[in-house]
Amino acid sequence: MGLEVHAQIKSNSKLFSPASTDWGAEPNSQVELVDSGMPGALPVINEYCVDQAILTGLSLNAKINNISIFDRKNYFYPDLPQGYQISQFEKPIVGEGSLIIDTNHGQKKIGITRLHLEQDAGKSIHDQDVKNSFIDLNRSGCALMEIVSEPDLRSPEEVAEYVKKLRSILRYVGSCDGNMEKGNMRADVNVSVRKIGKPLGTRCEIKNVNSIKFIQQAIEYEAKRQVEILEQGELIKQETRLFDPNKCETRSMRGKEESHDYRYFPDPDLPPLIISENKIQNLKKTMPELPDKKKERFIENYSLKNYDAEILVSDKYIADYFEELAETRQPKLVVSWLTGELFSYLNKKNIELSDSKISAQKLGSLIDLISDGKISNRQAKEVFEDYLKSDKNANDFIKDKGIEQISDQAEIEDLVKSVLQKNAKMVDDYKSGKDKLFGFFVGQVMKESKGKANPQVVNNLLKELLSK
Ligand code: MN
Repeated sequence: MGLEVHAQIKSNSKLFSPASTDWGAEPNSQVELVDSGMPGALPVINEYCVDQAILTGLSLNAKINNISIFDRKNYFYPDLPQGYQISQFEKPIVGEGSLIIDTNHGQKKIGITRLHLEQDAGKSIHDQDVKNSFIDLNRSGCALMEIVSEPDLRSPEEVAEYVKKLRSILRYVGSCDGNMEKGNMRADVNVSVRKIGKPLGTRCEIKNVNSIKFIQQAIEYEAKRQVEILEQGELIKQETRLFDPNKCETRSMRGKEESHDYRYFPDPDLPPLIISENKIQNLKKTMPELPDKKKERFIENYSLKNYDAEILVSDKYIADYFEELAETRQPKLVVSWLTGELFSYLNKKNIELSDSKISAQKLGSLIDLISDGKISNRQAKEVFEDYLKSDKNANDFIKDKGIEQISDQAEIEDLVKSVLQKNAKMVDDYKSGKDKLFGFFVGQVMKESKGKANPQVVNNLLKELLSK
């Protein structure tokens, strides 16, 4: 498999016009003359979008081309008012790069063929009227980065990892929201099959798949379909297909166009795009720490397991959240509370951490009570959901609940002494070798304290007093 991912650049205005890109606005309210293909209206390149493409290229370890060319890709579609899309063909802004994914058998490098800039089309709306279709040009002219991979992907799982990793990098860089539901990241999936060791077979392209789950399902179906055709001794027709999530199948849309069908030629309205080495170096300086580097640092600084580090760095918000907590706390305890208790709570509620309004401070103050011995880990788990819903700080919350753990040595020592006095016969038995009675004493002290005594302190004091 190889992927062509269209990622919409997070920018206030379009690639060649000052029209707004805000999502969800009144149809056709954000359309400049250029976006509606008016004759004589001239495109002007948006420098911010160019910078975002360069940053994204750098984050994919890719070569930035100092000279790139905008071309017209000619085709007719009702929501493409110019009759062509301004894209890049032979000379894209970004050349070869790579991206690392984690697979079941270790890390794998996936080649990036290129990244080019192009305009998005408008939207045809077919479901509002029985007889008519409508056109909304708000999206027309929005900036897209088309990121093309080499056919290095060998399973639906690898493809899923690739999309997740790419999305994570785009979000770190800030060049794209990577929100597949809103359509600001979509994938065309090229699938071909072959016998091991033979050259790649004829491919089919599945257009515009908009979730990772659908991508995997589409590949499963398509690969099986192609194998069946070949095993019947027939040939695969190169074509463009669509994925129907309801029937979980791919269907033929049209025979595949070759690039010469588009009659590409350099757009006479736009001069070559020239990027100075100086600009590239300056942008490089603004690059954030990317997931791979961050993961390495987390493993080293906080002694995390690879698996935990992978989860934490997959999303920049989560990574920052973790670091805020771990700065002054035991990383191991933080990881267990963050990826264990908090994530399962969020999963249950089906919300993202960034939308949850649960601050690192809120979780941190509960973790502090555990490490200070004021409540046990088990008690904290029991009250966790209630605590998250309350607007109290952890200290007040456990006081009001009356579950504050007793860790005071003197107070517990009194309890231990009174238990030992009441059970003098057992103490004698213990001392003459009945070791198992230790648990009985612990139980009695815990009972006397109504479960509030810190078990660790109880254990230590009992050992000390019984050895006298
Ligand atoms: Mn494209």
